Amino acid sequence: MSKQVTVIGGGFAGLAAVQELTRRQKAGLDIRIRLVDRQPCSVFLPLLPDLISGRIRPRHLCFDLRSHCRRLGVEFLQQEVRHVDLAGKAIETGAGRSVSDGLVLALGCETNWHGHEHFKGVLPDLKGAAEGVAIRTRAWELVSDCRRRGTRANIIVIGGGYAGFEIASHIAAMLHRRLRVPYSRLNQIADIVILEVMDHVLHGVNDALRDWSVRAIGHYAVRVETKASVQQVVDATTLRLGDGRVVEDALAVWSAGVSAGPVAQELDVPKIREGRLAVEPTLNLPGHSEVFIAGDLAGARHPGQQDPLRMGIQFSLVGGTLAGRNLAATLSGRPMREFNPADLGYIVPLAPGRAAGVVLGVHLRGRLPYLLHYVMCLYRSWGMANRAGAFCDLLRKRDASVSPSFPTPIV
Ligand SMILES: Cc1cc2nc3c(=O)[nH]c(=O)nc-3n(C[C@H](O)[C@H](O)[C@H](O)COP(=O)(O)OP(=O)(O)OC[C@H]3O[C@@H](n4cnc5c(N)ncnc54)[C@H](O)[C@@H]3O)c2cc1C
Repeated sequence: MSKQVTVIGGGFAGLAAVQELTRRQKAGLDIRIRLVDRQPCSVFLPLLPDLISGRIRPRHLCFDLRSHCRRLGVEFLQQEVRHVDLAGKAIETGAGRSVSDGLVLALGCETNWHGHEHFKGVLPDLKGAAEGVAIRTRAWELVSDCRRRGTRANIIVIGGGYAGFEIASHIAAMLHRRLRVPYSRLNQIADIVILEVMDHVLHGVNDALRDWSVRAIGHYAVRVETKASVQQVVDATTLRLGDGRVVEDALAVWSAGVSAGPVAQELDVPKIREGRLAVEPTLNLPGHSEVFIAGDLAGARHPGQQDPLRMGIQFSLVGGTLAGRNLAATLSGRPMREFNPADLGYIVPLAPGRAAGVVLGVHLRGRLPYLLHYVMCLYRSWGMANRAGAFCDLLRKRDASVSPSFPTPIV
């Protein structure tokens, strides 16, 4: 009788695992494949910041999972997974309990509120397309309102990581384009600041590239403050900072990192920082040879290294493929392979056309890494329609939302 395998999470890692399992099925492995995700579509996260500046339409970031699975002959279950029973290789959803012969957990990570759970639902974060559109709308409404009243808006991005830099620069780009104001005069209209609680931003980025990025974003009217944080949301537009300053006419966006979600947190298995799950070099959980972890949730390391791999789509895709391959190998009694992905590097894109990064070991800054980021995004997008749509959006010079023929649907 054919064996049941279940992949949980239809992001980069989960879709790569499904693709690999489908390949093994076509090669003769007798399995039934099921993908479970709480959302109907897989969201292309690296282009979410572009929703803020209006460069991309939300629908080009959303890849329909049901029709993708139908094409592959894979069962799709749109359900929130509430609990995973590792010993029983079972999951619990609103549709009940279902048992499998093998699992791939590719749940990604969720916004880390660092103990400020009371900010959840109050401060926007960038975890989906609707949130990207909401940040854009709220920033625009705040700035329009302040201009009517003759005051300056305060836009605060909490967290000086890659995403914080991207969010702040896309807000600046949106205001620059919609108001037709040069960047050099933008700070008369809005004070856009990145607040970082540590003494440096862009943790993990090489010193020279970090300094360059801080200077570059400064040219786009974005300030950076370190050792600074938001302490309290006083009312809808008033914030109290960690040093006691009260900021009025303010919008704060939370971008202070991610950690494992509740389903992974409650598992009684070894974890590393951010609650990522410790895995064997073959990506299965220690003591569970038929349960594999892939993507951001996996605390995988390069052989011989202490630090876990960066969270990113390259490692998620390669990890998802290996998890699928090793699960198929386990079910058919063949040896597993170890995870040793090539590190292609990273890029910190700044919306107005500049970026810094390390690509294949070469340090780059300026326009080239910026273009490489978008080439990577188009190449990695799921589905030809999304790829072509995103490409056309990026070619447009005008802000998507100011063109009457270019509505911005919220998905
Ligand atoms: C704003 C932003 C910009 C980024 N930019 C870049 C970049 O430029 N380059 C780069 O390499 N990386 C970038 N990343 C990181 C990259 O997107 C992640 O590393 C990647 O998405 C991880 O893939 P994943 O499959 O592990 O998780 P995800 O892509 O997060 O997918 C997880 C899936 O699991 C589903 N899920 C979660 N919990 C449950 C549950 N309980 N029940 C059912 N389904 C569930 C979710 O709905 C989701 O579909 C960015 C991330 C963000 C947020």
